Amino acid sequence: MVIIMLGAQGTGKGTVAGLISEETKLPQVSTGDIFRANISEQTELGKEANKYISQGNLVPDEITVPMVANRLQEDDVKKGVILDGFPRTIEQAQKLDEILGKEGKKVDLVINLTTPREELIDRMITRRVCTNKDCKTTYNTKLHPPKVEGICDKCGSPLKQREDDSNPEAINKRLEIYENQTQPLVDYYNEKGVLRTEIVSTSINRMGKDVADDIIKVFFGTEQKNT
Ligand code: ADP
Ligand code: ZN
Repeated sequence: MVIIMLGAQGTGKGTVAGLISEETKLPQVSTGDIFRANISEQTELGKEANKYISQGNLVPDEITVPMVANRLQEDDVKKGVILDGFPRTIEQAQKLDEILGKEGKKVDLVINLTTPREELIDRMITRRVCTNKDCKTTYNTKLHPPKVEGICDKCGSPLKQREDDSNPEAINKRLEIYENQTQPLVDYYNEKGVLRTEIVSTSINRMGKDVADDIIKVFFGTEQKNT
């Protein structure tokens, strides 16, 4: 099963993907996480990608698409995958269809998370991530704080703010790119009949966890529990 997470920055894509991944054992593949791992290890790919990421721009397709194509060749994603952060443009979606088509696969489900804009910026500013690259759990100092300030509940590693979340210009640019380049994917996948839109908002007291619970119930039901 190929699942795609769609949604602006701060909607909780990564959180929802992580919860579904834990329950279904489908691996979560986050392009942002792959880039950040490469940046912290100072690989060539990381150095190149960081030129774009630190400014809030998209990393060019010449870098991003082969990286995802290679990742989708690995054994652990043969049964399925939850893509978090890819595709982000119509071109990337078309490339993904080609990559999957070669293996007789397709996109099965697109979870589109929507959150009121005024909440998004606040959520990005208050987001903290675990610095342990095997953990990477996301917290929020207001909505979902760790038990001990600055420390990951799961692994005890220090938390930090992402560089692009602490730069107001990068935040605005990312939201603008989302609206212009990624939002059109909603129609693209709606036409294919695989779109499921979910609101995540404190105003209706519906958080990422609630969305993940519903998706697991509807799409994985009791079947998953037996395996
Ligand atoms: P966010 O959704 O908050 O922007 P991500 O972790 O998904 O965070 O991505 C961080 C950055 O990595 C993006 O701002 C962008 O520069 C780059 N990136 C991630 N995925 C892609 C992609 N599919 N295409 C191009 N750039 C990407
Ligand atoms: Zn951790």
